[in-house]
Amino acid sequence: MRRLARLLIALPLMPVMLSEQVAAEPVNLPEPLRIGAAELRERAAADSDAYSLVRALALEVGPRLAGSDGDRAAVAWALTTLMERDFEAVRAEDVAVPRWERGSTRVELTRPYVVRLAAETLGGSIGTSEYGIEAPVVGAANIAELQAMSTDAVAGKIVYLGQRMTRSRDLSGYLETVGNRVHGAAAAAELGAVGLVLRSVATGNHRLAHTGTMRYRPNVRRIPAFALSNPDADLLEYQLAGGQPVSLRLYSTARALGPARSANVIGEIRGSQRPDEIVLLAAHLDAWDLGSGAIDNAAGVAIVIEAARLVATMGRPARTLRIVLYANEEFGLSGANDYFARHRDTLGAHVVALEADMGAAPVWRFDSRVPDSALPLVSALHEALEPLGIERGDNAAFGGADISVLRDHGVPVLQLTQDMTHYFDWHHSASDTLDKVVPDELAQAVAAWATLIYLLANMDADLGRLPVPDPAG
Ligand SMILES: [Zn+2]
Repeated sequence: MRRLARLLIALPLMPVMLSEQVAAEPVNLPEPLRIGAAELRERAAADSDAYSLVRALALEVGPRLAGSDGDRAAVAWALTTLMERDFEAVRAEDVAVPRWERGSTRVELTRPYVVRLAAETLGGSIGTSEYGIEAPVVGAANIAELQAMSTDAVAGKIVYLGQRMTRSRDLSGYLETVGNRVHGAAAAAELGAVGLVLRSVATGNHRLAHTGTMRYRPNVRRIPAFALSNPDADLLEYQLAGGQPVSLRLYSTARALGPARSANVIGEIRGSQRPDEIVLLAAHLDAWDLGSGAIDNAAGVAIVIEAARLVATMGRPARTLRIVLYANEEFGLSGANDYFARHRDTLGAHVVALEADMGAAPVWRFDSRVPDSALPLVSALHEALEPLGIERGDNAAFGGADISVLRDHGVPVLQLTQDMTHYFDWHHSASDTLDKVVPDELAQAVAAWATLIYLLANMDADLGRLPVPDPAG
């Protein structure tokens, strides 16, 4: 505050400047906290058990699509793992989840010649009849281009959406493209299409297709939806560009099963001074069925558990650290919605939320979404992360899918953005396997998490609340 006092003396005739100057006033975290954070940062980098946690969840539990036997095994594993590590208040909160079964998929080019294409049914898609669907193909880059086409051009055909995901170090390439997967089938069906096929929302050039969730719209006919591997999408585009008739045959035995039960698994380290103030650490326990879910999201589960365990080695924190391992992120955010409904009354106790769902590569940028008044505090937190090679990003962080509900109700979010350059080569494909996880890289991510949540759980300062959009406006 001494600098603020000097500022007030220096600027007596410029009261308009005052609020901006106050906001820009740097904040220093107390010396003991900075020393503790540095010690923990070093220790975490040298002594992290995160890789063995990823291996256990990916290989011992294995496939764990929401509502499956594997999902139940994941819940049991998470409860045991948290209890073995002496977390407190370990519990499972029952969550209803939709259940979907992939069955078998077969996609063939049938004109101008017959060849099988590498494809997967999208998550949530209906299947075809036992005879499949054979129809001519009409192509568009994305939903906007499709919607500019006439019903005559699309009716009775299979729509192909070809937008290519651009590779980026953050989520931006994915967020630009993923809408085609989620909403493409409904957009195609509105124009009378009989099926949807799209280029995988992925950067890999292997012949594996990437699945992921898709959604139907009420009162719009449900049509089956598929993703092609990138090389197979290239082949289809080449045929379409030639101008001759191109046809596909689609076959899938995918189906929705009745609702099932799963659970959010929670464990805490109770705060010593302000136990009612919660720092929420999120990761999802479920995974798509094609691979082992090593990077999506055994890695995130391992990061939050291991980072919290490391913080506890420094003594009980002032605030409560709460780990929430969410049910069914992939196929409808069931756990996120259930957590919000169940804990709505204590939302104000959640001082900040962070989510690990970006794979196992190192953290390279620190992003935030906090009120402007908390930006100097975020800069002070960033100083503790800089020795790990982490840049300060912006204040427009997405945060993560599972904590988005909390964020939209005022809870500030911080985001340790991991290097996603290669993440989407494997994400949601059969190639999401343990070999993609590099132990030293994962250890860096754990060190970043441990350093940050140690400070968040021990500092006196508060990040404030985000504005809540007016539901009526
Ligand atoms: Zn994920």
